[in-house]
Amino acid sequence: MNSFQFQNPTQIVFGPGTVSKLGELVQPYGRNVLLVYGSGSIKRTGLYDQVIAQLNAIGARMYELPDVEPNPRLSTVHKGIELARAHSIDLILAVGGGSVIDAAKAIAVGVPYEGDVWDFCIRKAVIREGLPLGTVLTLAATGSEMNGNSVITNWETQQKRAFGSRFAYPRFSILDPELTYTVPASHTVNGAVDIMSHVFEQYFSLTANTPLQERFCEGILQTVIENVELALADPQHADARANLLWAGTMALNGIIGVGVQQDWASHGIEHEISAIYDIPHGAGLSIVFPNWMKYVYQERIDRFVQYAVRVWGVDPSGKTPEETALAGIERTRAFFTRIGAQATLAEFGIGADKLERMAEEAVRFGPLGSFKKLERDDVLRILQMSL
Ligand code: NAP
Ligand code: FE
Repeated sequence: MNSFQFQNPTQIVFGPGTVSKLGELVQPYGRNVLLVYGSGSIKRTGLYDQVIAQLNAIGARMYELPDVEPNPRLSTVHKGIELARAHSIDLILAVGGGSVIDAAKAIAVGVPYEGDVWDFCIRKAVIREGLPLGTVLTLAATGSEMNGNSVITNWETQQKRAFGSRFAYPRFSILDPELTYTVPASHTVNGAVDIMSHVFEQYFSLTANTPLQERFCEGILQTVIENVELALADPQHADARANLLWAGTMALNGIIGVGVQQDWASHGIEHEISAIYDIPHGAGLSIVFPNWMKYVYQERIDRFVQYAVRVWGVDPSGKTPEETALAGIERTRAFFTRIGAQATLAEFGIGADKLERMAEEAVRFGPLGSFKKLERDDVLRILQMSL
């Protein structure tokens, strides 16, 4: 295990009905609240009215940034920064999924910064402060509710870039599983694939002697595998929704990846796809990840054998390590397909024409990943396998 430091400042308020705590959570930060949300789901579900009632009850002055896109755009973040500056906002309140939360984070760190917030995404500037941020999560997927990461798309340059900062952690996040009952099947699936992918990025590592981290990872993977089909069969399955929600948070709040050299190549590749074609993040990961696995498993076959045996129950007896490893990868693809996730870029009408450009962009800051360092041609090969 590698040496590490760990701190996660986000207060989690978990459980059915916890939106009722919103007023008391917001109150200490001041009166001016910027409410950030997506393109209407919170109005359809009635959550918007609940949030407004809570904020009214504490006498908050509310300003709104609606219509944050899935794969949130820099132009929307700019609007939010202007609003926050114009109204001396004390707290940014994100109500929605990862896209809404990521946009709110970029607004929070962008407000006190004199330059363009995009500078943080392209490593031109370092984040030194941020406005307080709180969230009400409505979708189990990204873990953004309990981490300092944000992914923003610059639609003009067709670049999707992430930043991470200790100043971008939410101060609090409300996780009410009932708020996820209305998530449609497609986004339930995309979220499950994203959660599993976050675990993969930390599990497939060259770091030795991390048994606790590995078992955390395997536990989260099994929890998602056991619960996603229950939630698909019955969208109001209280236990399945609660377990998926907590699995999503635990997959990317930092705990399972401490002391581990992480990978993140597949996320890097996926971001290049959704930057150009605007496909859902989870769908892109479902296409790319099993191909990444096939491309890299020989770097450390014992970890892939362990994955196949412990997560999928593959029986290794009578099989070579290679056969066992490949069986685990096949089980992953079969599971994604069974729950309705995509397997090829062709399913989105994406052809080969922009693959080279994506591969070049992906390695703009150097090779991707650490399990196997991927150069331009490696990324291109994985993209070609994904066609
Ligand atoms: P999302 O893009 O936030 O939401 C997807 C869709 O689900 C939206 O159309 C949204 O509608 C709808 N939705 C959300 N909650 C709903 C509910 N309760 N009922 C009905 N519909 C609901 O999805 P996401 O997967 O959470 O976020 C994806 C983004 O996060 C991508 O940009 C990805 O790159 C990024 N990401 C971030 C991190 C991180 O650590 N920060 C990690 C992985 C990925 P409305 O717009 O109408 O609300
Ligand atoms: Fe992700």
